[in-house]
Amino acid sequence: MGTALDGCTTTTTAGSVRLARRVVELGLEGAFEVFAAARRLEAAGRHVVHLEAGEPDFPTPPHIIEAGVRALRDGMTHYTTSNGTAELRAAIARSMADRGVLAEPANVIVTPGSKLAVFHVLTALLEPGDDVLLPDPAYPAYAAVTTFVGARAVPYLVDAESGVDVDALAALITPKTRVLVINSPHNPTGHALAPAALARLAELAERHDLIVISDEIYRQLSFGETPISIASLPGMAERTAVIDGFSKAYAMTGWRLGYGVMPVWLADQVGKLVNNSVACTAPFVQAAGVAALEGPQDAVATMRDAFRARRDFIVEAINAIPGVRCATPGGAFYVFPDVRAVLTSRGTSVEALAKELLETHGVACVAGTAFGGNGRGALRFAYTQSRADLATAMTRVHAALGA
Ligand code: PMP
Repeated sequence: MGTALDGCTTTTTAGSVRLARRVVELGLEGAFEVFAAARRLEAAGRHVVHLEAGEPDFPTPPHIIEAGVRALRDGMTHYTTSNGTAELRAAIARSMADRGVLAEPANVIVTPGSKLAVFHVLTALLEPGDDVLLPDPAYPAYAAVTTFVGARAVPYLVDAESGVDVDALAALITPKTRVLVINSPHNPTGHALAPAALARLAELAERHDLIVISDEIYRQLSFGETPISIASLPGMAERTAVIDGFSKAYAMTGWRLGYGVMPVWLADQVGKLVNNSVACTAPFVQAAGVAALEGPQDAVATMRDAFRARRDFIVEAINAIPGVRCATPGGAFYVFPDVRAVLTSRGTSVEALAKELLETHGVACVAGTAFGGNGRGALRFAYTQSRADLATAMTRVHAALGA
């Protein structure tokens, strides 16, 4: 039975019901909405190349699947400790050394997907009236959760070409600013913060007593030097929550496995949220996570190399379209080309352009505005399809935009 929503009141067959405003006003992740629209077209017989979803097209490596299946057969099918199994928390703590961070299992909170770690860490830190510095464009969950808990999102620009202007960011800090969220390599631009920028951000965090949330989920998909974590800089581990997970580097999006590494004073509170929301993360999934971290890493390197080659292909193909400019990203698997000239010459919006690319040309991509107001001149393409499919998509985009 359909229901009509008027403000926060919905009319149902049983009468009118008032809903919570903070939930009614909660946004959805744009990529999921494009995916649903693309699926409807496919169901009607249309061919669509999927460049909307932020997930690798590679299968989960077999030894990881094997570990998960073995754990199921071995009876890891019951509740486990809220913060994560001892084995996985120890493996995560050890793995943090790769990014120069000294961590103990007590610093680690395992969650069903890093998205929940983002949700819980922001929820544990923020009170109404707090300001949070958020990248814009950005992964939409940061702003959604910030608003949900009654805090204020203060956007700072991440430019696909030049990254973050730290002076401009510093100018946004007020006595109300409590948290700085950074994400490198960055969704949706692929930009990777240089060590010098990280050092300056750390200095700002110290000076203004900010807590940093460093979303490093694309760290292993960096095409330049292995990136350092801001948490590895002097004094920063005590004020940083590192967010990471298995979805991207190990092609495990559907397993739902992520984590946060944070000071114990914060882990204690975030652990209570995990306990009260999901109780714990599936233990057989955590066993697969141990295999991912401690087993052979060649599948990660193979994927990274494939993404780098695809990046080179797609950047060149997009830059060949008149009026479109595409920076070369340092990591992740997204490009965020600037299509402002096309929008101006056609007198259209980026949302309308993304819709046209999907509905008329069979290319699913996401309008930059799904990631914040600063994305109004860009489209996000995830190069998470085979080279052949990327070539098909680029021929279609070229025909659509070059016309
Ligand atoms: N952070 C960023 C920047 C992301 O792009 C994503 C997924 N698109 C996530 C966190 C969440 O990933 P997951 O919940 O699958 O671990």
